[in-house]
Amino acid sequence: MSLQYHSTRGGAPALDFEGVLLAGLAKDGGLYLPQSLPSFSTAELQAMRGMSYSELATTVIAPFVEGSIDRDTLSQLIESSYRDFRHQAVAPVKQLDRDQWLLELFHGPTLAFKDFALQLLGRLLDHVLTRRNEKVVIMGATSGDTGSAAIEGCRHSDHVDIFILYPDGRVSDVQRRQMTTVPGDNIHNLAIRGNFDDCQALVKASFVAEPFLPEGRSLVAVNSINWARIMAQIVYYFYAAFAVGGPDRPVNFSVPTGNFGDIYAGYLAHRMGLPVNNLVIATNRNDVLHRMLTTGTYARQPIEASLSPSMDISISSNFERLLFDLYDGDAAQINQLMSDFARGEISLSDGALTRAQTLFSSARVSDEETCDEIRMMWQQTGELLDPHTAIGTRAARLSARSGDGPMVTLSTAHPAKFPAAVARAETGQAPQLPQHLSDLFDRTERFDTLDNDLATVHAYMAEQCH
Ligand SMILES: *Cc1c(COP(=O)(O)O)cnc(C)c1O
Repeated sequence: MSLQYHSTRGGAPALDFEGVLLAGLAKDGGLYLPQSLPSFSTAELQAMRGMSYSELATTVIAPFVEGSIDRDTLSQLIESSYRDFRHQAVAPVKQLDRDQWLLELFHGPTLAFKDFALQLLGRLLDHVLTRRNEKVVIMGATSGDTGSAAIEGCRHSDHVDIFILYPDGRVSDVQRRQMTTVPGDNIHNLAIRGNFDDCQALVKASFVAEPFLPEGRSLVAVNSINWARIMAQIVYYFYAAFAVGGPDRPVNFSVPTGNFGDIYAGYLAHRMGLPVNNLVIATNRNDVLHRMLTTGTYARQPIEASLSPSMDISISSNFERLLFDLYDGDAAQINQLMSDFARGEISLSDGALTRAQTLFSSARVSDEETCDEIRMMWQQTGELLDPHTAIGTRAARLSARSGDGPMVTLSTAHPAKFPAAVARAETGQAPQLPQHLSDLFDRTERFDTLDNDLATVHAYMAEQCH
């Protein structure tokens, strides 16, 4: 029987992979998780060491899609997802210092790590929808990078309309242009008068709302609430660990964090058998997760704009998936916690907090420290980091547990996506956009600006569906 997925809140039907791919948020407001996690023995991990990125991805992902997609098809979809990355290694690992490493995740078409999941998600969706002869409506909220990666991953499918909601005026010019200049009748950009949390709330509310789309169209999520995205991100933790000596020695990761999707994938890699000592939650001034891990209180605060806009988030959706494990899979408790959280703040039990602190640590990095880090890294290593990555390398040093072995920081974006922030670091370097984006500022933009209002957004979507 194929692997089944269930909701963190226990009140939605179990689904197979195809079901969760097409669903997104569970009907009870929870997030889908596999009923059991596949795991690899040390011998199996050792055998995975010499694999190419695509071979490794097929090996890691196959157990999750069993029963929905056969292995040959999966392997082809993966191969084509990563074929056009601008680096042969797909996810190259660079040494910065004796124990400090960088995992470069920005060689995909839109220059951020989101391409790893969304290139594959687009192909998986197209494959499944072609077989079912169905059309869907993709809806996503973006703090900047998900939007373009989703558009780039899905634009060639005749089976989808894509609606991307982004906070008006709060994404970088490069980020916005990467979304709004892509031609296609099935691509719709919505600048929402609000912040990222408002956009994310509109998306989440749409999944539990009354039907508002034309007959026969269902809604698919491209945010990391969609399990398929998390699944695709697990792969590069294995890949990086093997590059720095795993599985024979444990590895540490520092992850620039917003919605907790990326680092949660690292946590899963660990649970699947990869020896990992420490996962560092690196945050900017929007430090809800840092405060949670240091005080046990999970409380939202108003979002403040920072130099690392893709992490300007005050509610980290995927944290609910970790909570589910911290509370031993007790859906009733998660239900209670999440409804308490919706009304205010929650405190983790001592047991749950201690468990979280065993694997995770955290650090908060200010804008000033971010610029300082970009400058220092440029001087010491010759690497020009983007502001998100700089938060990662700084947090890695701030919270490294001594004598713990290799520390890999995830380099989540290319510096040319955030030229203004890089300029403030005064390295004397201006990062260049790669060739395929060099005329980005000459292309025509298409978007509509809408109020932060569910009915307005739904009416717009119903009308614009092609
Ligand atoms: C999305 C994003 C992050 C945060 O990742 P989460 O999965 O939301 O925690 C960090 N850096 C960059 C460049 C991003 O695009």
